[in-house]
Amino acid sequence: MEYLCNNINVIHTSRIHNLVHIFLSDFILFTRQLNIFLAAPNQNSFVSLKMSCSSTKIPDVETNIHWLTGNRIFINGGLKPASIKIENGKISEVKEGPLSDKFENVLDAGELVVMPGLVDTHVHVNEPGRSEWEGFWTATQAAAAGGITTLVDMPLNSIPSTTTVENLDIKMKAATGKCHIDVGFWGGVMPDNENSLRPMVEKGVIGFKCFLIHSGIDDFPSVNEEQVDRALAELKGTGKILAFHAEVDCGGDEKWATDDPSVYRTFLQTRPSEMEFQAAEMINRMCRKHKDVKCHIVHLSTASSLPLIAKLKADGLPLTVETCPHYLTLNAEEIQNNRTEFKCCPPIREADNQSKLWEGIKSGLIDMIVSDHSPCTADLKQPGEKNFQQAWGGISSVQFGLPLIWTNMKKNGLQLHDLCRLMAEHPAKLAGFEKIKAKIAVGFDADFVLWNPDEEFEITENIILHKNKLTPYKGKTYSGRVHSTILRGKVIYNNGKFATPNGKFLLTEMKL
Ligand SMILES: [Zn+2]
Repeated sequence: MEYLCNNINVIHTSRIHNLVHIFLSDFILFTRQLNIFLAAPNQNSFVSLKMSCSSTKIPDVETNIHWLTGNRIFINGGLKPASIKIENGKISEVKEGPLSDKFENVLDAGELVVMPGLVDTHVHVNEPGRSEWEGFWTATQAAAAGGITTLVDMPLNSIPSTTTVENLDIKMKAATGKCHIDVGFWGGVMPDNENSLRPMVEKGVIGFKCFLIHSGIDDFPSVNEEQVDRALAELKGTGKILAFHAEVDCGGDEKWATDDPSVYRTFLQTRPSEMEFQAAEMINRMCRKHKDVKCHIVHLSTASSLPLIAKLKADGLPLTVETCPHYLTLNAEEIQNNRTEFKCCPPIREADNQSKLWEGIKSGLIDMIVSDHSPCTADLKQPGEKNFQQAWGGISSVQFGLPLIWTNMKKNGLQLHDLCRLMAEHPAKLAGFEKIKAKIAVGFDADFVLWNPDEEFEITENIILHKNKLTPYKGKTYSGRVHSTILRGKVIYNNGKFATPNGKFLLTEMKL
């Protein structure tokens, strides 16, 4: 028998990168990641090896699995040996312990961690219209390789923007047959489209996004407080969210004229925390006026808004807040001149601010972590050539959210159940998918990510699946490698291989 073993940690003094075959009584362990005490192997190392290794067997992509079993399955808030029965893409039974009988189409995760598939509610797919920036095929493929089974596409950067039912139809047509995972859609609020909002709700968008400052895209203009007021009135009674790009213009721009645009600090001074804070104050006013309409702050970058957010939440108002891997893992101090791959809006701030964001995560003021995957073509960034004023703002990371956050969570004293909450449960709830996604329980979609939290890897260009490979994470090493992803019971990703796209559109249709 031959076993593919992904998770062996034995006493180690050296690492072997080549393929290693070890004969143990009657079977072969075959592995790339074997850490073993080779200099003087002894009985204990072999005992330990035997104890820690179990047989990971992942069927080929395209296989519809009937049972998933493993020693580390995330159920009821912890990792346990468990077996999960899958029928018609749904979980039909969950039982603790191994699978005793012989079944067909069994996936044995062995020692890999099995969690609900992640949900990313902030992805700019850019198709149609800017499909040279990204597209449904590549974005959903990268997401699947990162353990994401559901993403929600943002309404802007595509042409047209998703601001009417007709435009949503155009987008869905462009996405048809290209989605490796399930996909939902945000609608957009612009100054003149309030009559389109309720029809888009009926069609099934998860909610709406608006900008309080220039979006960077001329065909998606920002809204003022009065227009936000009208949009919230339109959304009353629909249960849908209004999400805010929470920055307002407060005059930072003159720094471009006086300071060096190749220096990151100049860019930071053009987008000060004050811009986010003033936007949070406006959201505070609107939230209190329209008490029943859910509001959501996307990509919070400054910790200075946290006390205001705390007050709104303490008063029971339905506000949720997200932040992104770049704000939690990168900091302003490390960004060199013209390293425009780090440019995004709001900006990556200082390390001190970052530790306060982590405190916000721990206290629950920040509800979720999503990617804000926002790629562009290389010519719009040209790191080292273009300066921070000239370059497009946006960071690509949809494929790597899990390892980025897991690696840094551990340093901040958070656990696996926090990861599930922040990157699966809460985003699913935001989108209105909480009854079908992000939980390993009977009746939920059989969406899983199988990964090894201890396995380190370097982000190199050849493993990046986004259409454009530029990312500030290139060359860095993280722990937590995704091995396989399951969507509604089907193996859609397995160690570099993909099934044909089988994702569904998740539309929360309703009659108003
Ligand atoms: Zn965004």
